[in-house]
Amino acid sequence: MDANLPILPNHPRVVIIGGGFAGLAMAKKLRKQQFQVVLLDRNNYYTFQPLLYQVATGGLEPDSIAYPLRKIFQGNPNLSFRMAEVLHIKPEQKVVETSIGDISYDHLVVATGSQTNFFSFADQEEHMMGLKSVPEALNLRSFILQNFEKATVSLSTQTQDSLINIAIVGGGPTGVELAGALAEMKRFVFPKDYPDLDMERMRIVLLEATPKLLGGMSEQASARALKDLKTLGVEVELNAKVSYYDGSILITEDGFRLPTETLIWAAGGERSVSQRNQQGQNCGWKPHPG
Ligand SMILES: Cc1cc2nc3c(=O)[nH]c(=O)nc-3n(C[C@H](O)[C@H](O)[C@H](O)COP(=O)(O)OP(=O)(O)OC[C@H]3O[C@@H](n4cnc5c(N)ncnc54)[C@H](O)[C@@H]3O)c2cc1C
Repeated sequence: MDANLPILPNHPRVVIIGGGFAGLAMAKKLRKQQFQVVLLDRNNYYTFQPLLYQVATGGLEPDSIAYPLRKIFQGNPNLSFRMAEVLHIKPEQKVVETSIGDISYDHLVVATGSQTNFFSFADQEEHMMGLKSVPEALNLRSFILQNFEKATVSLSTQTQDSLINIAIVGGGPTGVELAGALAEMKRFVFPKDYPDLDMERMRIVLLEATPKLLGGMSEQASARALKDLKTLGVEVELNAKVSYYDGSILITEDGFRLPTETLIWAAGGERSVSQRNQQGQNCGWKPHPG
């Protein structure tokens, strides 16, 4: 029990699950106070998600956006980090069940973030690429480049098109940034790296289900994003709801079709499974009465 954590008398133990934005902010607030803070994360690094698209498109290497969690808290004796996947919370016993054993707590903070929401396409998830973590960003980068390699040796233009076309579903900040970065790769990187392929044929299509890009932002921002993406050569399909995708052909409700082996799902998030499983178990942060 307790993953070999130090015993700190008179320091109520606060276990924080998740070393993302929220978990780190909480840990930093508590590190100089009379608590033993135990931060748990399935990874031993913090991910700066806003720049994942740069890793996916080769603009940055993973270590530029992933930072070792242990380094952040060096020199703080009341803070411990354990790399562990939290599997279950037992609020009656004040214990979290993890991949490295049970850990007890006095107070529990659940800051496990979100995961990709594939909505009604959950059963086709295997054909789609998400962008929420460093491994997903690297998978995406590698998948695109492998498809380009395959296209180079394909004799069929139809197959080539399907291999080099890219669909991005979701015209929020992630979809817009990614579409822009891919358009720049199409212009400046791919023609040099793949001179045997006709880059004019490559289509980068951004599909958004509502009438505008960047729905949560101002009208000017939406209009500017649309204009800039079009200038970069991105095809933007508004009011376009994907109705079918089988890994090689995408079809929208109004009949738009795109042959593509690469569908990037940037259309939404939902609370992580861990948070949903813990729902109703009274495991949120409560200040210590003392
Ligand atoms: C591609 C992308 C671009 C974004 N761009 C922006 C932007 O430009 N500006 C902006 O403000 N926001 C942006 N966001 C949103 C922002 O990143 C999130 O709002 C923020 O990360 C949420 O912080 P969090 O701490 O709740 O969760 P996260 O940062 O996701 O952290 C959750 C942590 O919990 C860990 N975890 C989850 N489940 C478990 C478990 N069972 N056991 C152990 N550990 C677990 C995970 O490994 C992770 O480290 C972007 C998000 C994405 C995906």
